[in-house]
Amino acid sequence: MPELPEVEIASRNLRRWLGGKTISAAKLESSRILRGAPPASFSRLLAKRRVAAITRRGKWIRVDLSGGAALFSHLGMTGKWVKRAPGDGPQRFERARLDAGRVSVRYVDPRMFGRLVAAPRGEPIPEWTLLGPDPLTDGLDAAALHAVLQRTKRSVKEVLMDQAVIAGVGNIQAAEALHRARIHPARPAASLTLAEVRAIVRGIDATIAFTLGLEDGPEITYVEEPGADNPFRVYGKAGEPCPREKTPIARMVQGGRSTFFCPRCQPFR
Ligand SMILES: [Zn+2]
Repeated sequence: MPELPEVEIASRNLRRWLGGKTISAAKLESSRILRGAPPASFSRLLAKRRVAAITRRGKWIRVDLSGGAALFSHLGMTGKWVKRAPGDGPQRFERARLDAGRVSVRYVDPRMFGRLVAAPRGEPIPEWTLLGPDPLTDGLDAAALHAVLQRTKRSVKEVLMDQAVIAGVGNIQAAEALHRARIHPARPAASLTLAEVRAIVRGIDATIAFTLGLEDGPEITYVEEPGADNPFRVYGKAGEPCPREKTPIARMVQGGRSTFFCPRCQPFR
């Protein structure tokens, strides 16, 4: 599933492919990705507009267009932006295409949990406005995060995945950061010391940098896809040895999601 690193790569790619270019035509399929908005409203919003800026916050991409309009994109579980030639036919699971000169950018999404939102006056959507600090663009303040964690009854992993607390961290990056920080995922967030929160912030920065370095390229493969490599330390690695001291990685269910951790170097205390 795309989290901050994958969405950052998608955003960089879109900037490279479309930045400064004028969209000659935009064609969208009516699907739940548009949440009932008519495809023609997107085509009107995008066509003949120049792509002025492409930015990312958390798992959202914002495409600013000349004339003040904006397009917001969330990749959901299986969404991807890919570059093709204008003459190439529709891709499997293609839901939208934007043509700009010699470039044709396609949005593909097999499971359609992604979203495209048109903002004719560039008004930020609530999902964008409500995002907490982004580890990559804003940086995380350990003292401020510690203060937020003190005020909740939730587990540390659930809070790390709350987009209003930290933008862009999901199930994979949270599990990886907690392993790096040697913190058990079910620890009550309020029980963490400032030193432990500092270790988590370092863990988040490190796992994001690691994933970015690994996945940078024109086409991203998500770790859940068939045949994909799993480069992570604990995520999806139940029963495999911890990279630290070879203890088998354990799996537990937390808030309906699988969590992976090492029972030895992430003890519950
Ligand atoms: Zn371990």
